[in-house]
Amino acid sequence: MPPERISIWILGDQMMEDHPGLALASDELDRDAVRIVMLESRARTQKLPYHKKKQVLLFSAMRHYGAHLKQQGYQVDYRRVETFLLGLKAHVEQWQPDQLITMAAKDHNGRLFQGQLGEILDLPVIILPNSQFLVEQFDPYPDTKEDQDRVMEYFYRKMRTHFGVLMTESGEPLGGEWNYDKFNRQTLPKDIDIPDILGFPPDEITRQVMAEVENGVHGVGSVDGFNLAVTHEQAKLVFEDFLQNRLENFGPYEDAMTQRSAAIFHSMLSPYINLGLLDPLYLVQRVEEQYQQGLVPINSAEGFIRQVIGWREYIYWQYWRRLPEVMSGNSWDAHRSLPGFFWTGETAMHCLSHTFSQIRDTGYTHHIERLMLICNFSLLTGLDPFAVNDWFLSSFIDAYEWVMYPNVIGMGLNADSGRTATKPYISSANYIHKMSDYCSECHFDHQQRTGKRACPFNYLYWNFILQNEERLRSNPRSGRYVLGLRYLDEEERNRVMRQASLFIAELS
Ligand code: FAD
Repeated sequence: MPPERISIWILGDQMMEDHPGLALASDELDRDAVRIVMLESRARTQKLPYHKKKQVLLFSAMRHYGAHLKQQGYQVDYRRVETFLLGLKAHVEQWQPDQLITMAAKDHNGRLFQGQLGEILDLPVIILPNSQFLVEQFDPYPDTKEDQDRVMEYFYRKMRTHFGVLMTESGEPLGGEWNYDKFNRQTLPKDIDIPDILGFPPDEITRQVMAEVENGVHGVGSVDGFNLAVTHEQAKLVFEDFLQNRLENFGPYEDAMTQRSAAIFHSMLSPYINLGLLDPLYLVQRVEEQYQQGLVPINSAEGFIRQVIGWREYIYWQYWRRLPEVMSGNSWDAHRSLPGFFWTGETAMHCLSHTFSQIRDTGYTHHIERLMLICNFSLLTGLDPFAVNDWFLSSFIDAYEWVMYPNVIGMGLNADSGRTATKPYISSANYIHKMSDYCSECHFDHQQRTGKRACPFNYLYWNFILQNEERLRSNPRSGRYVLGLRYLDEEERNRVMRQASLFIAELS
């Protein structure tokens, strides 16, 4: 009997070297009967004005991946189409497969679409489990009921134990502690050398995509200066460069912010991990090796490993567990639209101006700026969580729905009634001054709470606490925020509220 004709649809964020669909076409006979389908959808790209560098990254990586599969002897049907459905229909009409195989999408809408394909295409459709997350193989809390809260720390410990990462043979955490944050959260020394992130000059494929994107649909930023990795080999080189040049300092300066560098000692690997160009377990094991060989301290190795098999997996797990509520929370009842400086960077607040301009230019800023500058500001000024979420989705090179909702609606804006993070992450200028070098060049004074030159983060912070005193007090983790109110007399409280309300009114 001739082999069945099989089509394998590989999604653009599933470009793994070991995509489970490829195993089905591992020998030559199989390969003749198999078509790999890859689709660039115009409609999907136009859903939001996505950052132009993200568009280049995605399409260039897809075209390189398609070419790589062809070199390996696969037959690849690569199409640029109006919608995924039209692309799949055209492929099925031409190739007449007996079945379509695909791997489960990371996000809810993608999976809904995949679930309907069999009926629409009138074809058996096999959806393989997603293998881009460890939590798809091992769920630390399979019996958890919807209303039970599981904090990241214990989730992470279970992941480490199950996958044997940084563990002794007797099941204890290596080094004796689960967490080495006491060595981290340091401020950045002024004279510390910060290496550049490894970049790559665009090749012919990338230059072609850059021209198409620049002349194509609307998007944030520009394609100029694009130098991201677009193949597995390049992404691995970025990772190896991180191991050699930045991992050692990753832990201590994880929370620091500076105008001197966007990533500081962070890895800048999220765009590649999210596309499938890098495998999370491989990263974690290589980092563990570095520690075992005495090349990096435990606080940096553990700090990085916690980001990857702790936070990243936890966020994905929360996304699926909290649907649909994670997509609709607005528990601080915030409805203000975003000020224009989110796109232009034109504000006198230097920390925000620098960060927004950098995001416009690169599509990247590290975790603390996302959380303690942008989300902090958005929460204190009552910006609509969905508008903030969409802004993040369109502005970042690593942004996807599954990662965005729990991070923005959940962790950043605490709009999910505290299901992702147990307290709102808010701060005054004091924290920003302590952890960054922004304040020294700012028009505003980080020490003044009210008055013409007072940093807006100060009166906005105290105003938020005054407006929400009861609610904050009732949560043991945020209760300490209200303690400082005892230093504000009636007059100062009135000044704070007046100035905050004027500032907020002028925002839109
Ligand atoms: P590193 O600090 O070097 O960390 C290593 C890796 O850990 C990252 O590459 C990432 O894969 C993973 N990681 C760490 N924290 C998280 C987390 N909370 N969620 C998911 N993965 C995590 N991450 C994205 O991948 N895409 C996003 O669109 C995104 N948006 C965010 C929005 C907000 C408001 C916040 C608070 C966080 C967001 N994050 C997002 C998480 C985190 O900020 C980024 O993963 C990280 O900054 C990426 O830079 P890096 O690779 O240099 O990270």
